[in-house]
Amino acid sequence: MTRRVSIFGATGSIGQNTIDLISRDPDAYDVVALTGARNIAQLAQDAIRLNADLAVTADDSLLEPLRDALAGSGVAAAAGQAALIEAAARPADWVMSAIVGAAGLEPGLTALQQGATLALANKESLVCAGALILETAAKHDARLLPVDSEHSAVFQALVGEDMNAVERVIITASGGAFRDWPLEDLANATLAQASAHPNWDMGQRITIDSASMFNKALELIETREYFGVAPSKIEVLVHPESMVHALVGFHDGALMAHVGPPDMRHAIGYALTWPDRTNLPVDRLDLAQIGALTFRAPDDARWPALRLAREVMDRRGLAGAVFNAAKETALDGFIAGALRFPQMAEVVEEVLNTFDPDLIDAAMTLDNVRQADQMARHAAEQIIRQQ
Ligand code: NAD
Ligand code: MG
Repeated sequence: MTRRVSIFGATGSIGQNTIDLISRDPDAYDVVALTGARNIAQLAQDAIRLNADLAVTADDSLLEPLRDALAGSGVAAAAGQAALIEAAARPADWVMSAIVGAAGLEPGLTALQQGATLALANKESLVCAGALILETAAKHDARLLPVDSEHSAVFQALVGEDMNAVERVIITASGGAFRDWPLEDLANATLAQASAHPNWDMGQRITIDSASMFNKALELIETREYFGVAPSKIEVLVHPESMVHALVGFHDGALMAHVGPPDMRHAIGYALTWPDRTNLPVDRLDLAQIGALTFRAPDDARWPALRLAREVMDRRGLAGAVFNAAKETALDGFIAGALRFPQMAEVVEEVLNTFDPDLIDAAMTLDNVRQADQMARHAAEQIIRQQ
């Protein structure tokens, strides 16, 4: 039987890896919707090749170019935020959520509301609105599957296990581009240097977030939300080779590690055919050739984002939405050259420290999440302007 699939963020790194997998078995899938933003040529090419019903660009101004690129193909074109939500409401069995940033939240919620299985690469959804995502999934009997490499690893290590036997969850971090830099050089790090990841080939934003560890900070919160593990039981371990993705420690002392090459097609493929495993086109590790895997504790002075994530987890409420929005805005500031690399964490910390506590304690509704997000972006922009 063919499965109806939609891919949100189809033109990005995760989206293209997802397309790579479904293209290998085209008869198994019926593609409903593909979405992108500015890369119209890629979006149209994939939509035509996969014979999608619909292609959507998030950018209103690009509807005409998308229509032109799809002319005569039979693939419908649409643009803008409402079109993205309409696409997410179209019946599908499996939906990939791979838009980058908080923009991925509403399409994901909409897909859950129609009961689709949501493969969640967009970690920002869980950071901003974890309880809302989980409640929505439960209410509509929709399945949520993790696509982050660490969270897929934990998920796999937990198959058949009792959560009460879990003593700790360890997620690994490569340490990113500046792992071994002298601390005093970080202030002079350039955009190009921050955008080069030692092991993973990913979108630019998550690559810079890997260098600052804001990515791992988001993943700490994602771990708490997805698995319901207390923050004190979640650890970050620096592992430069990026082959052990996560470990789960049980109360008999056993540690179950997930080991594999740094290739997102493993986590995507696991979510695509879950609960079955399928043959995936990822490299098989030759451990004898690799010889050694190394580990070290994270350095708090180098990566203040990890401490901030722990404060956010303690604060609860809408602190995650504030944290993520401030982080996204600070990242925009660094990309635009308005902030130095270490100033991103300073901006995020100041937004968290000065944010209206009543709003952080407001109920987790979509409107309140949106409002906290907008206010945090605004606050971060003001701080950046004063730099
Ligand atoms: P990317 O930048 O390569 O792609 C992002 C996609 O989102 C593109 O299709 C882009 O067109 C679309 N997009 C951007 N802004 C948008 C907006 N405002 N509205 C709608 N669509 C928009 O990013 P990526 O590396 O593929 O990451 C996607 C998500 O997956 C992120 O949440 C990231 O944290 C997560 N993730 C990525 C990886 C990875 O290996 N790349 C690993 C784990 C998790
Ligand atoms: Mg990850």
